[in-house]
Amino acid sequence: MFDCAIIGTGPAGISAALNLKIHNKNFLWLGNRDLSEKVTKAEKISNYPGFPDADGATLNAAFRRQIDAMGIGITDRMVTAVYPMGGHYALAAGADFYEAKTLILATGVAATGVLPGETAFLGRGVSYCATCDGGLYRKKTVAVISSNPRFAHEVSFLCELADTVYFFPTYRGENPKAENLRMPDARPREIIGEQRVTALSLSDGSTLPVDGVFCLRDAVSLATLLPGLACENGHIVVDRDMKTNLPGVFAAGDCTGRPYQYTKAVGEGNVAAHSVIKALS
Ligand SMILES: Cc1cc2nc3c(=O)[nH]c(=O)nc-3n(C[C@H](O)[C@H](O)[C@H](O)COP(=O)(O)OP(=O)(O)OC[C@H]3O[C@@H](n4cnc5c(N)ncnc54)[C@H](O)[C@@H]3O)c2cc1C
Repeated sequence: MFDCAIIGTGPAGISAALNLKIHNKNFLWLGNRDLSEKVTKAEKISNYPGFPDADGATLNAAFRRQIDAMGIGITDRMVTAVYPMGGHYALAAGADFYEAKTLILATGVAATGVLPGETAFLGRGVSYCATCDGGLYRKKTVAVISSNPRFAHEVSFLCELADTVYFFPTYRGENPKAENLRMPDARPREIIGEQRVTALSLSDGSTLPVDGVFCLRDAVSLATLLPGLACENGHIVVDRDMKTNLPGVFAAGDCTGRPYQYTKAVGEGNVAAHSVIKALS
């Protein structure tokens, strides 16, 4: 069992990880091995002390050097669900489970919203993880909404299993190729069903009959990630110690609210780590 699990590898998660490492805590850090796209994509950063007029790639490289120099490892996995276990937490990431006494949520905010019907049909045809649930759709028809080319291997995996895969990337770039992969021109509008998902309605007014919808995004909606977590206007409610309403759960960065800025994220990651250290003592 880990002392703490940090979810998210942006500036908030990085700051929390550095501080837990300095304090010699046994922690697990889950997220993206390339850290955060919101850092690498910044053309020019004028408000990060010590890095005048840096670009995002430079700042990201500096983060990477510091993490590597301190021997901090990242587990490159998307956490799809967190379960309170009465005193500690279990985290599901793909087909793997991890356990931790405390949590720091540093997930940022998702650029793409939740589709109508997505939350209602979660576990009843809607999935966030092809590796975990792909087997349920052998020889069936699925739709995949993907926010990042890094999910290409999950899409290819679904193409191997399913009869037909309708693919809706929300990014520009190279797409996976397979004989049974179709790319409609219209955008997904709503997930439809009764007991389970039956169809996906599209922006051109048409309806695609599907057995399942995979939403592969860089972030999972907070409400579905950890049920019972108090949120307001899409942000996690925290106090000055970055404590949430759930025992042992702290949050930092964009996921706690505006302003969406690197230095706020870094500062909150620091406070969250110190609160974890206090909670563990
Ligand atoms: C183009 C652009 C330019 C910007 N320029 C500036 C600027 O000049 N100055 C400034 O101060 N701010 C700027 N920002 C804002 C800044 O990027 C954010 O405020 C900052 O990155 C927030 O850090 P964070 O750690 O909270 O979240 P993020 O940087 O969003 O990182 C969150 C990480 O968590 C991961 N994650 C999410 N959910 C899960 C999950 N369930 N399991 C595992 N991992 C997960 C994500 O993949 C991501 O890697 C800019 C943003 C953009 C997009």
